[in-house]
Amino acid sequence: MTNATATLFNYSFALTQPNAHAKVPPAIRKIVIVGGGSAGWMCAMTLAAALLPKGIQIEVLESPVVGIIGVGEGSTPWLRGFFDSLGIEESEWMPACNATYKCGITFDNWSTKPGFESYFHPFASMLDNLTMTQFVYNSTARTNGVDVHAHPNRFFIASRLAEQCLAPKPERNFPFDVWYGYHFDAVLLGQFLQKKAIERGVKYRSCHVRNVQLAENGDIAAVVTDGEDSIAADFFIDCTGFAGLLIQQALKTPYVTFSNNLFNDAAVAMPTPIGDDIPPQTISSALRNGWAWKIPLTNRYGNGYVYSSAFCSAEEAERELREHLGLLDAPTEARHLKMKTGRVTKHWNRNCVAVGLSQGFIEPLEATALLFIQRTISSFVEFLESGDVSEAAQARFNHALNEHFEGTRDYIVTHYKTNSREDTDYWRANTANANLSEPLQQLYRQWMSGKSIVGDINRQAIGKGYPVFSWYCIMSGMGIFPEPATLRAPTPVEARYRMTEIDNLLTRSASNFRKHRDVLGGIPAKTREDALQIYFW
Ligand SMILES: Cc1cc2nc3c(=O)[nH]c(=O)nc-3n(C[C@H](O)[C@H](O)[C@H](O)COP(=O)(O)OP(=O)(O)OC[C@H]3O[C@@H](n4cnc5c(N)ncnc54)[C@H](O)[C@@H]3O)c2cc1C
Repeated sequence: MTNATATLFNYSFALTQPNAHAKVPPAIRKIVIVGGGSAGWMCAMTLAAALLPKGIQIEVLESPVVGIIGVGEGSTPWLRGFFDSLGIEESEWMPACNATYKCGITFDNWSTKPGFESYFHPFASMLDNLTMTQFVYNSTARTNGVDVHAHPNRFFIASRLAEQCLAPKPERNFPFDVWYGYHFDAVLLGQFLQKKAIERGVKYRSCHVRNVQLAENGDIAAVVTDGEDSIAADFFIDCTGFAGLLIQQALKTPYVTFSNNLFNDAAVAMPTPIGDDIPPQTISSALRNGWAWKIPLTNRYGNGYVYSSAFCSAEEAERELREHLGLLDAPTEARHLKMKTGRVTKHWNRNCVAVGLSQGFIEPLEATALLFIQRTISSFVEFLESGDVSEAAQARFNHALNEHFEGTRDYIVTHYKTNSREDTDYWRANTANANLSEPLQQLYRQWMSGKSIVGDINRQAIGKGYPVFSWYCIMSGMGIFPEPATLRAPTPVEARYRMTEIDNLLTRSASNFRKHRDVLGGIPAKTREDALQIYFW
């Protein structure tokens, strides 16, 4: 597989292309994907691009009786690479999925500290290289008791774009690329990918899998449908959602729960109308027993309340969400969902790889699930193409994914652990949560003692989840600093970075971006020059 790589802080992005020299083991002639949700179709597209040209058959089985989860409308910037690697333009898929651009997430009311009641976690951009040093310097100075500005919002172009409803698409003469993700209708995305995959040669069968047949050596030999068809394959991809029909139920792969430090296990969702302005951001507002998402699409907002059923009932959650949205007496229908957080110990077990909710789920707070899907399936393709499907290869694959899961989990836990709300048992329980991984405890110790956290992040698994600047954003954004009354005035050296200069730079930069709604009205097809600009800066 050939990779074109761009590095952003400690993120490394791989643009995958079919590899003509791949050494896929000859025993693998047919791969069956069980499940037709986002995971199933994303896998089908990725496998089709890499393996159909080599004559390997790909078939998706989807139950006509078990629906898809149908939520999951926010992404990270990595989804951009998914579509690019498949040669699908934004101008094609975005209108088909009512998609909008996403510059990051605003976290409202997670902290009660004055001045830190709201902050924005941006997707980074090249321009941030001009202000990152200042942000990290000021944050570190403030942890050491110096009264300098360290709230993340004033340092990053993405927060300006979000505030002003501008699309993260600069005019052509603007010399910096801006990193962005998307919001989209999850059901439409599934339908779009299904249509594309079938057009590209993936086979599709609507059938309910009732049973999984194991071979003598313990591998999966075939799946048996309600209609008594036995469908054999050399390899199986489990995309059956939380059921984990193959990986968990048939292969009995152990599951590690995250419920001891991520308390949410349920959600309720409902749409609201959207006006003329489309904010290019998700808003995550802390409520009494969890948090509510607000995701802008071109035709509506998707809203939902993710909460812990140990602290409130489904009826209470629905009522609170309705109140939050001003829908108390509205006839808008609510969808209630259960969810489980954790991960399997082996994402690749025998001749099965689990992708999507079947492999694990952290929680939707940072919208990372599609990124795990992408990462899992593209990494599996890399192993296949290297010709190495040995147990040692599987162990490397599983270790890397587990680190990614744990690192991301620790970042999400930090949202809850650093909250300063004391209004409900739920928030008090989150503050009191002592089930923290050792790397996370070490990171908190470093931060509280005013030391740099860069080394810890880069050395440990937590760096596999989020880059350094995201950790600075969360700790600074939540106001994890000494009490304001104890801060001292900065010396001239400590006050070296003038906020007015940063403000001016970002104001001038923001003037290069157009209204989000206007850009969405006519997304241009990408030119080759644009593509190179994205991947080779
Ligand atoms: C409240 C909530 C909010 C979320 N928000 C986000 C977000 O903002 N961003 C993000 O990236 N992710 C989010 N996610 C996660 C995201 O929704 C999922 O990761 C994504 O949709 C993939 O789901 P899936 O395909 O694994 O499972 P599903 O959508 O559940 O699909 C399972 C598939 O398996 C099939 N199936 C099941 N059993 C059988 C059987 N016996 N035989 C045949 N077929 C079968 C079903 O028919 C279905 O097609 C969220 C999840 C939740 C719960």
